[in-house]
Amino acid sequence: MLILYSMIIVLIFSVFSILILNEYKTSQIKNAEIRLFQTANIVADTYKQNRDDIIFASMMLKNYANQADARILILDTNKKVIMDNFYSYVDETIDNKEIRNSLTGQSSSSIYTLEGRDILQISVPITLNRFGDVDIIGVVLISSDLELINENVKVLREHMFKAAISVLLISFLLTVVVTNNLTSPLRKLTLGVERISAGDLGYQIEMKSKDEIGKLIETFNNMSSTLSSIEKNRKNFINSISHELKTPLTSIKVLIESLALGNYQIDTYKEYLEDIYKETERMEKLVNYLMKAIKLEDSVLLLKEENLGCILKDVVSLIKPYANKNKVSISLNNVDRVIVKCDKDKVKEIMFNLIDNAIKYRDKNKKNCYVKISLYKDIDKATLSIEDNGIGIDEENLQDIFKRGFRVLEEPMSNNLAAKGYGIGLAIVKNFIDKHGWHISVDSNLKKGTIFTIDIPLNS
Ligand code: ADP
Repeated sequence: MLILYSMIIVLIFSVFSILILNEYKTSQIKNAEIRLFQTANIVADTYKQNRDDIIFASMMLKNYANQADARILILDTNKKVIMDNFYSYVDETIDNKEIRNSLTGQSSSSIYTLEGRDILQISVPITLNRFGDVDIIGVVLISSDLELINENVKVLREHMFKAAISVLLISFLLTVVVTNNLTSPLRKLTLGVERISAGDLGYQIEMKSKDEIGKLIETFNNMSSTLSSIEKNRKNFINSISHELKTPLTSIKVLIESLALGNYQIDTYKEYLEDIYKETERMEKLVNYLMKAIKLEDSVLLLKEENLGCILKDVVSLIKPYANKNKVSISLNNVDRVIVKCDKDKVKEIMFNLIDNAIKYRDKNKKNCYVKISLYKDIDKATLSIEDNGIGIDEENLQDIFKRGFRVLEEPMSNNLAAKGYGIGLAIVKNFIDKHGWHISVDSNLKKGTIFTIDIPLNS
């Protein structure tokens, strides 16, 4: 990966360097060309005006050639050299493309390579205006060595090469640092996933960064905690169920054993069988309850317009004997008539579970245990609240109570019969509430009590 990054950087830099060097060389040649054309035009004008004074013209030519650091020739229309600042070509005939072009009236330029050196050659026609006609009387030919430009390009290339090496080194170092910063948390994450796969639920990764990877690790840690709490709830749940099944099974076993051993009257057999029947009924109820809890997600609502106030009163009158038995007073403070589309059986179950819990989790140290229930109707919503002065739930556990299998009691198989349960009641309540599109909230204080509030939106 690192090598690939470095190669990409080198490639990009090389392409840029070549483009910049080419651009630089082209612009330098263009500038030289412009300069030489200016000189050629001045030479052409000077020659035109002083062609009678050939010595002055030749001196001027030498001057301009020195200034431009170039060789300047003046040729006549027969391509014969009339003037040369180095004198060596005088009276010789030169024929090339530039001269031929200029003799037709055009300026021209080309680059030649002579003995390994680049030479820029430009030519301009020398023209005379005679009675409105333009006569070509000769050509100015200038040759200039491009070696200086090539030298500059070479120096620039060397600088760029040094810069490229520095950039490569810096980028290499940066890539090493950045890649390490990236891969180190990823390695930690991989280790975390491995630990979780190996069953170490709840494993937490130490997290420092607040960037995207930091968020990913935070999500991982949350997931790990959730998995751990689900596993804890599952174990609690299985514990409670096993215990709950074990009691009737043991009773049945003992009853059958004594029946098998003893030689009883038929009435005693009947009595024993009745006990066995009751125990199996208890197990059946439990299994049905479990199946319902498992199939929770699949349950479908049968919606009809119902009066919530009536349903509430029915549930309260059903549960009252149980509350009286446990010395808990139930009061219906206010019951408005609330007509709403709902599934009557499911609503009954919601109310039953909440009131049952309020009684079940009463504070036995208090003299007056109570459950206060009310149903208020507002303009756009109705509010059902169930308040108790029971043992309450501490803040730490409050957010988990709607989770399936969750129980606050450390010892789920407590001998306290009243507080028995499987941690499913509130999960059922929440599921039904959500399916109705209602909202449930809970407020609780340890040793003070709990209040569950259900908000029911009213459409009309
Ligand atoms: P279960 O009652 O079978 O344990 P629930 O899902 O009904 O299961 O309740 C989950 C947990 O929430 C209970 O174990 C209990 O600790 C706590 N809880 C629920 N309702 C109350 C309440 N009214 N007062 C105190 N604790 C409650």
